[in-house]
Amino acid sequence: MKRIDLRSDTLTLPTRQMRATMAAAEVGDDVYAEDPSVNRLQDYVAELTGKEAGLFVPSGTMSNLIALLSHCQRGDEYVVGQDAHTYKYEGGGAAVLGSIQPQPLDFEEDGSLDLCKIKAVIKPDDCHFARTRLISLENTQAGKVLSLAYQAAAAQFASENLLALHLDGARVCNAAVAQGVSLQEICQHYATVSLCLSKGLGAPVGSVLVGSQEFIGEAHRWRKMCGGGMRQAGVLAAAGLMALEQQFERLAEDHARARNLAEGLGQIDQLCIDLNQVQTNMVFIDCPAELQEPLMAHLQQQGILIGGYGQLRLVTHLDIQDTDIPTVIQAFQDFFSK
Ligand SMILES: *Cc1c(COP(=O)(O)O)cnc(C)c1O
Repeated sequence: MKRIDLRSDTLTLPTRQMRATMAAAEVGDDVYAEDPSVNRLQDYVAELTGKEAGLFVPSGTMSNLIALLSHCQRGDEYVVGQDAHTYKYEGGGAAVLGSIQPQPLDFEEDGSLDLCKIKAVIKPDDCHFARTRLISLENTQAGKVLSLAYQAAAAQFASENLLALHLDGARVCNAAVAQGVSLQEICQHYATVSLCLSKGLGAPVGSVLVGSQEFIGEAHRWRKMCGGGMRQAGVLAAAGLMALEQQFERLAEDHARARNLAEGLGQIDQLCIDLNQVQTNMVFIDCPAELQEPLMAHLQQQGILIGGYGQLRLVTHLDIQDTDIPTVIQAFQDFFSK
């Protein structure tokens, strides 16, 4: 039976061509900065995002951690979304390993952080308080794309308040494709950006952190300390480079499939989907709690896997085809017409 795995866009498998590219990659010791494939990837992502330098890291979690460690000192504070990956899903790394205090705020409906609410939590220069240093945004946030106008306003706000601005852009490539703009147009608003190669882009491993030369120099030290100094990592970097060069524009197909999926599933009375929130490759569904487990079991019998934490989550990616969409919709309809 064919498996249709919609739990996450991290589940993509490297294509045969990608494996061949990895096997043929030129490599060296990256701790000596002598891996040509890693250097090529870092330079390429820096250029794509309009930054001076890039750093290849094993995961998005490490990339965000290194960014926070480089921006903030012990006793500093960063403002972040209550449901942000950097706050909620990274094991409290910034606090545990960096003695950096998070100041979480609820995300707005559109995935932004309200600048007035940020203003209200910036701490005065007083020994009672942690020093507010950084704002960390997320784009896409639960599949939603931040507007360019908002990001420009956030950059201006950060600068006026002497704060740095970091983007957890694990899926910033999805945002750029959805808006039809270059990565540079989004990334220009941030001091630093972390992007994942291992999600919809389809590489097996890795993220890249970009910023100024000076910042990346600092981040490089932290990467080593975190145990992220890899040796012949070019086999992985080559996959990332190929993913960016050949599987970037393809993200539009994932977005179209997510939209078709949402429109089809939205016809089912027992389900509630906000189509305005389906902007990239993610579909979130409100489904009566008591039906979630039997629904997921029913789907699983047909080889269809979906995610669920409160809401159901379906994510399209490289390994989901056009023809899978009606199959999934039909399986949902079968369940609800029983
Ligand atoms: C996936 C993800 C990350 C990084 O995750 P890793 O699994 O560590 O690569 C960071 N931020 C967001 C928003 C993510 O979705």
